[in-house]
Amino acid sequence: MSDIWEVAKRIAEWSNKERPMRCDLCNKPITKMEENIIPLWRMQTVVSLGFNPWKTPGIDMPTYCDPVALTNELKYKNWYQFVMNDTADWGLCNSCASAFQKATGVIPQFSKEGNVSFTFNVQTPEGTNDVYISGPFNGWNPKRDHLSRLSTGIWTITLEMPKDEVAEYKYTQGSWETVETAANQSFRPNRRIAVKRDNSGEFRIDDIVEEWKKPPK
Ligand SMILES: [Zn+2]
Repeated sequence: MSDIWEVAKRIAEWSNKERPMRCDLCNKPITKMEENIIPLWRMQTVVSLGFNPWKTPGIDMPTYCDPVALTNELKYKNWYQFVMNDTADWGLCNSCASAFQKATGVIPQFSKEGNVSFTFNVQTPEGTNDVYISGPFNGWNPKRDHLSRLSTGIWTITLEMPKDEVAEYKYTQGSWETVETAANQSFRPNRRIAVKRDNSGEFRIDDIVEEWKKPPK
């Protein structure tokens, strides 16, 4: 058997061993429960759009013990090449995952497959008769996913959604002419989901609609 096959065999044995999982950004050990997955293509996309972990608050990149102290800029250059040539999805610890989400708007997945259940609870202004939620999960349809009234001024809906496609959304009263606005009725940017992991493994989001756009008379 040639040397190259011997090396390949050793690499295969090594990568099949149970090794402690580590965060792919800060290199701290993580548990399986803590695994926050960023699909490789998403990681490559945000990196090519400028995501730099050395410049992201909350991400503590490891210091390498090189004889020559590399500047962060050089480390970043090496790392950039590494990301672009990588072949596997990324797994982040909880603190890197939340810093990453804040910086990029990309929501980490919590397991490799399936959908996740999000419950949206929203408080609305007085006189609201109907509330819908609109986002990429329903093709930005302003009148498809209707919320149920929990009590006066509180509405709820639970949606099963693919984890990595849920990033932005808005509430409407059934049309874009009646979409939510800021308190002074000016344009309100899309909401972004802030995911909280609770004990049941589902996610609950509490929102407040300040005002609705008034339909033209
Ligand atoms: Zn980390």
